[in-house]
Amino acid sequence: MRIIIATIFPDFVKVVKEYGVISQAVKDGKLEIEILNLRDFTQDKHKTVDDYPYGGGPGMVMKPEPFYRLYDYVVEKYGKPFVVMTSPQGERFDNKIAMFLSKKENLLILCGRYEGVDERVMKIVDLELSIGDYVLSGGELAAMVICDAVSRFVPGVVEEESLRQDSFFNNLLDHPHYTRPAIFREMKVPEVLLSGNHEEIELYRLSESLKRTAIKRPDLFLKHEFTEKDKQALIL
Ligand code: SAM
Repeated sequence: MRIIIATIFPDFVKVVKEYGVISQAVKDGKLEIEILNLRDFTQDKHKTVDDYPYGGGPGMVMKPEPFYRLYDYVVEKYGKPFVVMTSPQGERFDNKIAMFLSKKENLLILCGRYEGVDERVMKIVDLELSIGDYVLSGGELAAMVICDAVSRFVPGVVEEESLRQDSFFNNLLDHPHYTRPAIFREMKVPEVLLSGNHEEIELYRLSESLKRTAIKRPDLFLKHEFTEKDKQALIL
């Protein structure tokens, strides 16, 4: 998969591919992340990407031409991408959308700035995504969040078992984790985790997962499809 991010601040965004599992996946060739500078798609000597809003009002608006030129460049180089516009007005980004986007061959994420982007850019956009009900000063952080979460679902980036255990998979939160030492400041690691009994450990973890989902995220708990194993774990 290839994720392309269009921004006027490429140096800000590039850290998304420089750390942890994502950087490893990029090095291993499992994932490509390309960052394009919108200013490279302007045609005037000042590389202008914004202008005053028609109708007046505060701030500036991002011009449509650089977005269209960048889009045409991507289409010509890789074929038609799936285009996401970052926006506080978009659909709320979540794990299901991340999974859906991870199946695209080419994903282009557009970052707005200033008061936003000229509405005519929406014609090339497939999905408008928000990362939450607050206003950021630019789409870069949102694009990085989307890029990171989507990358985790690209085959081989994160271990399959780890993904299945992570929060939100099957509408459950992850179970608690412990590492050495077994006793830290009089706090003990649950006995079952030291038992070596894999069946009991699995049931304990499932039970903790179900309990914390019910307490912390009752909305998710109600959506979860219960199995026989879940019922067994709930009795613990
Ligand atoms: N005037 C716009 C509005 O109220 O809908 C907000 C513009 S915001 C200052 C500039 C850019 O930041 C947006 O074009 C978008 O790309 C990005 N942005 C801001 N908040 C966001 C959010 N919650 N999720 C995703 N992108 C966001």
